[in-house]
Amino acid sequence: MAGRALKSNPAAAALWLGRRPPQALALPDAPAYHSAMDARSDPLLDRLAAIVGARNVLTDPAETRPYLVEPRDLFVGVARAVVRPGTTQEVAAIVRLAGETTTPILPQGGNTGLVGGNVPDQSGRMVVVSLQRMNRIRAVDAAGDTMTAEAGVTLAAAQEAAAAADRLFPLSLASEGTCTIGGNLSTNAGGTAVLAYGSARDLALGLEVVLPDGRIWNGLGRLRKDNTGYDLKSLFVGAEGTLGIITAAVLKLFPRPRASETALVGVPSPEAALALFRRARAAAGPALTTIELMPRIGIEFVLRHVPTARDPLATPHRWYVMIELTSPVAVGLDTTLAAILEGAIEAGEAEDATVAASLEQRNAIWLLREAISDMQKPEGGSIKHDISVPVAAVPELIARASAAADRLIPGIRPVPFGHLGDGNIHLNFSQPLGADKASYLARWDELNAVVHAITAELGGSISAEHGIGRLKRDLLPGVKDPVALDLMRTLKAALDPKGLMNPGAVLAE
Ligand code: FAD
Repeated sequence: MAGRALKSNPAAAALWLGRRPPQALALPDAPAYHSAMDARSDPLLDRLAAIVGARNVLTDPAETRPYLVEPRDLFVGVARAVVRPGTTQEVAAIVRLAGETTTPILPQGGNTGLVGGNVPDQSGRMVVVSLQRMNRIRAVDAAGDTMTAEAGVTLAAAQEAAAAADRLFPLSLASEGTCTIGGNLSTNAGGTAVLAYGSARDLALGLEVVLPDGRIWNGLGRLRKDNTGYDLKSLFVGAEGTLGIITAAVLKLFPRPRASETALVGVPSPEAALALFRRARAAAGPALTTIELMPRIGIEFVLRHVPTARDPLATPHRWYVMIELTSPVAVGLDTTLAAILEGAIEAGEAEDATVAASLEQRNAIWLLREAISDMQKPEGGSIKHDISVPVAAVPELIARASAAADRLIPGIRPVPFGHLGDGNIHLNFSQPLGADKASYLARWDELNAVVHAITAELGGSISAEHGIGRLKRDLLPGVKDPVALDLMRTLKAALDPKGLMNPGAVLAE
């Protein structure tokens, strides 16, 4: 499903000046949108313009706005300027200038990140360095199954470039029409095909990075095996722009699937969904690309708010599983899927199932999964958790966290959905019917604490795939091993001694 463009909803925006929204405020014309300094009186801007050209230094609020608000409208930043370099050398010159003038900088890709590390803070001192103009596919090596892409290439464009060479780039996110390769690597993005192909880290062979001192590290190796010391690439993957600016990457490509089968299955419980997952894994092996869990309430939200959405099953079910099998060999997947579904129905793991008979039907099933998060918006406030636990603990996580949330906020509506096969559940909670949105969202931290405590007891993580950013930064010391945290601070200080790379994200300043 290439090219699903991200839709944002500025009309529903809330201005969030702290870590959570104490109240909803109108966005348009809010002073927070204006650049912190008058462009005419800021000599830094002349020097930036000398590097990238005046038209690529933005200070007009109408132009900078899309770079300052993140997709959920939870964080709104103030920037000294937004600068749009077109080459690695320009990025390096900007970083050197930032070092010389002690100017904090924020690398940005598609600005689809969900933890607030992608927009500047409120200080008005930060310069946003948007990589969007660096959007060239530098090379595709079909024989070697690699592609070298600049950081600002959108994920959809990378998928399309791979497909044009009869290859697959398997990273797949609902934001893929907008998010970029640089952002995907910097957040170590996951998505719906991790089960088969791994997350962004697993899909990169090499990187080109502008270091905080302005040097360019050319690590664009295409080797599948290279044991020559520390794995530097992995340092920058998942660093959320705090250690350097990724300017290009060598990505792994795979044989393009020749066959795919997609099913939506009604199941009685998360335990049954887990049994179905095990059955599908055993039967399909690496052909099982996607297995997603959805609750009925999530499906209802989509059916209620997306006019084109249809319920493909005759009667409602408490839970649903979306299964997708893919294979580069065009034989036998339909038989495998049919055997999985028949076995699951006989064993009571599944109540009903439908298999997509056309691309249109496949897209209709995917829509039900991918629109859930967005369709929580018209249902009022939603308090979100992107968490992971060992796969076998998913049912216990959902049951315990839902019960604890209801004790805390009676009538709260749990909407747990996501990547069952990775143990990664987006444990979102919609506000009780009729509740006041602002008062509900004011309990964000309280609910987080309850859910994160249960996650910790089950040996899980408070950030499965979205990262830490500014949203979870202050939670990190409570959950991370102190030695690991100390190592992270040591690395940050060694690479970025002036603390200019996305300060305040991941680690407190
Ligand atoms: P941005 O949002 O611009 O930046 C994200 C972080 O990376 C920031 O800290 C930024 O400073 C840093 N950064 C960006 N580019 C660079 C660079 N070139 N060098 C150094 N640092 C950089 N995420 C998932 O993992 N799985 C999902 O299934 C998923 N689904 C989503 C669905 C929707 C509808 C939305 C809105 C988001 C979703 N996300 C998902 C989150 C988001 O799309 C990913 O985190 C994505 O990888 C961010 O890419 P981006 O280019 O938008 O980065």
